[in-house]
Amino acid sequence: MEILRSPREIGLMRKAGLVVWEAHQIAGRMVRPGVSTAEIDRAIEQLFAERNVVPLFKHVPNSSEGKPPFPAATCISVNEEVVHGIPGPRKLAEGDIVSIDTGCKLDGWCGDAAATYACGKVSPPTRKLLEVTRDVLHLAIEQMGRCRWWSEVATQMERFVKSHGFSVVEAFVGHGIGRDMHEEPQVPNFSGRKIRRTADFRLVPGLVVAIEPMVNMGRKTVRQLPDHWTQVTRDGRPSAHFEHTVAMTSKGPDILTAGPLGETWT
Ligand code: MG
Repeated sequence: MEILRSPREIGLMRKAGLVVWEAHQIAGRMVRPGVSTAEIDRAIEQLFAERNVVPLFKHVPNSSEGKPPFPAATCISVNEEVVHGIPGPRKLAEGDIVSIDTGCKLDGWCGDAAATYACGKVSPPTRKLLEVTRDVLHLAIEQMGRCRWWSEVATQMERFVKSHGFSVVEAFVGHGIGRDMHEEPQVPNFSGRKIRRTADFRLVPGLVVAIEPMVNMGRKTVRQLPDHWTQVTRDGRPSAHFEHTVAMTSKGPDILTAGPLGETWT
């Protein structure tokens, strides 16, 4: 069962969310040809140290026993990499798309957000992939305020993505978030028909979830690289990922990882 948060607790989560937003401002400016993914990760880790927050991704245990924990403060996934890419010496090139996912804990409360950035000029279909993925996140947030159950939102998300000829990744889903980065419930981005009835949840004030659609240009299937973390599309075509931490309030959905003036991905 999901845990409901008080307005005060949601206010504390927004403080963590603001640092995550700040990290994305830095990351977005750094994405350009010739910059390595390790440099971007280092800049974000430095920000987290300056703000006195705990990086949530560093040392996350591997889901396979005996395999290495995640080594960095950010997941950086380029082109056909879907999620969980490990920052390293790879230098970005013109036309790459770069998914950056990061989170932090401030005073015991978590924030988590991801965005896919274009490195220089990208091809028109790739640009469309970024727009559709960003738009489906915003569609979901808007619909949270209109629907009673998450499955209704998720069904619209999948329909929207498919109407543009792309596919929704089903191997990974969003999550409840609060004291821990990953809490109940699971938050899928695909049709309600595929969600077990028992796994559905009501959209009530106090619910806080990280919504994170991953959209593939080609087929939805993914596979893991031998590094035991990076997930890539099976067909090698590009993938995009956008995420916000969102609270349901009595006034509707509220994006906690938005900027200080409520700005979000454009
Ligand atoms: Mg997340």
